[in-house]
Amino acid sequence: MKKFILIVLVLLTYARLQAEKPTIAATASMFSDMAKNIVGDKMNIELIVPVGGDPHLYKPTPKDAKLVADADLILQNGLTFEGWLSELIENSGTKALVVTITEGITPIKSLTYDSPDPHAWMNVEHGLKYIENIKNGVVQLDPDNKAFYEKNHEQYRQEVINLDNYIKEQVNTIPADKRILVTSHDAFQYYGKQYGIQLESVLGVSTDAEAQTDDIINLIKIIQKSKVPAIFAETTINPKQMQQIARDNNIVIGGTLYADSIGETGSEGDSYIKMLKANTDKIVAGLTGKLSPENTEEVIDTNNDFHWSSILIGLALLGAMLFMFRKLK
Ligand SMILES: [Zn+2]
Repeated sequence: MKKFILIVLVLLTYARLQAEKPTIAATASMFSDMAKNIVGDKMNIELIVPVGGDPHLYKPTPKDAKLVADADLILQNGLTFEGWLSELIENSGTKALVVTITEGITPIKSLTYDSPDPHAWMNVEHGLKYIENIKNGVVQLDPDNKAFYEKNHEQYRQEVINLDNYIKEQVNTIPADKRILVTSHDAFQYYGKQYGIQLESVLGVSTDAEAQTDDIINLIKIIQKSKVPAIFAETTINPKQMQQIARDNNIVIGGTLYADSIGETGSEGDSYIKMLKANTDKIVAGLTGKLSPENTEEVIDTNNDFHWSSILIGLALLGAMLFMFRKLK
């Protein structure tokens, strides 16, 4: 009994400590991951758009309204990324400190719309600005632990600088005339500009517009002219259209790139650093022609499913026929 009471007491204390910690609400998973690297376990970090979700098209839930209302610090990208957030903040009546983590970054203009391109985290140099802004917000909220946050920030900053160098080195291994990235939406302008890759996309900067026929025709011309060996799909967007374009042009899908979300826990892209590393590795393998149709994921996967199910149905039918045959005998 004494043991039981002790366990209950420990649990209650733990719950109280958790509740006393300040809460950060981040709009997208790249930003909650960055924050985690800086605050460690000194703050609770909550995510608004779940991993794999599309922040451009997100519809906030009543749970999000409560989360925002209770938060102490809200991290937003801004630059039209979270069009739904200001209303959510206003309606919640939150007292949270709202930090726009792209502050100090000069945005690129969207290729398609008369607005800034929000995907600045794709340039790792901008990523350094993101984590600095997050660190400053966190210190403003909890100045007592300033030294702790600064130490974590410095350590993380080194890792992010290493990532920037890694991407530069890797992209350099792609033949100059093949440094063309064909993907489904304009999430890679910053990446392309920073690392010297020409960008072509089927959709515009957001994901809510249907791809125009003219755009697709134009894209196919680019694929044929540049003879790129691969084009790419994205995790937050339905890959069907890219698969169709790849099939029609007899090239491969070089993989699914992370754009507006990190990957599920345990996947190759489950952090900001890992998502950009995974993207780079796929882009380099695809554009250096190291992929053959046999070892690319999407296009083949659906075919494999088809083959296996046909074989299973075939076996089942054969079994049923043999059974019937024996019965008749
Ligand atoms: Zn996007």
